[in-house]
Amino acid sequence: MSYPPHPPHRQPYQQSYQQPYQQAPGPYPSAPGWPQQYAGAMPMGGPPAGCEVCGASPAAPVTVRGHQGMLVIMRFLRRQGMFCRTCALAVFRDMQADTMVLGWWGPISVFVTPFTLLANVSALSGIKRIPAPVTAGWRPPLDPGKPVFRRPAGVLALIPLGVLGLLLLAVQILLVIGLVAESSGSDHPTLTVGSCVRNDGDWIDQDLRTVPCGSSDAQFRVSDPSTSVCLPEDHRAGLEYSEDGATSFCLRSLK
Ligand SMILES: [Zn+2]
Repeated sequence: MSYPPHPPHRQPYQQSYQQPYQQAPGPYPSAPGWPQQYAGAMPMGGPPAGCEVCGASPAAPVTVRGHQGMLVIMRFLRRQGMFCRTCALAVFRDMQADTMVLGWWGPISVFVTPFTLLANVSALSGIKRIPAPVTAGWRPPLDPGKPVFRRPAGVLALIPLGVLGLLLLAVQILLVIGLVAESSGSDHPTLTVGSCVRNDGDWIDQDLRTVPCGSSDAQFRVSDPSTSVCLPEDHRAGLEYSEDGATSFCLRSLK
């Protein structure tokens, strides 16, 4: 954002205030176009501490964002300045409601908009901490209007927000299913007594596969630990290679 020579907050209201408050050469230094009664309240040449829209104080620095998706192009909007609580709330509600309607219409915007809305929600908690105006400004504050979700925009936004919520839920469900499938280890062969296997891994991280007993690949014969005693030099297959998941087969070397 590039500012005109005057501080930005004076620009929109300059027209209406230039005439009635003509600057008289007084004892206070004052910027041109700034109402006379604030001349003294201004810190040396800088903007006053009050709300930049209505002049009321206290005011605090507030940043509210907006987003517009337009299929191919998109716009990132930002309104930043010193606002009293009333004006800040009005800016928040307007930009939030506009973003809820105009934010979704692009492949990237679909993802940008939720973050923009969330950033504004955190800005709102800051806005609510600004004390209510105690010093009146030179004009009435902005009208905050209805809360966002009591506006048509808020109701409309429930559709994309709902879809997004379902998508997030679906992704989580798929992740959980994926993890379950992963841990159920469907690629582990189930060993049968008397068959032959080879181990392509080590004995801590086994990678057993069943091979024909006559082949040169065969390294071990599977024996059942419940009917034959495992020899001390036998290896033990991991539990995941048994059908019940609780049996550790003996693997007796063929050599
Ligand atoms: Zn204000």
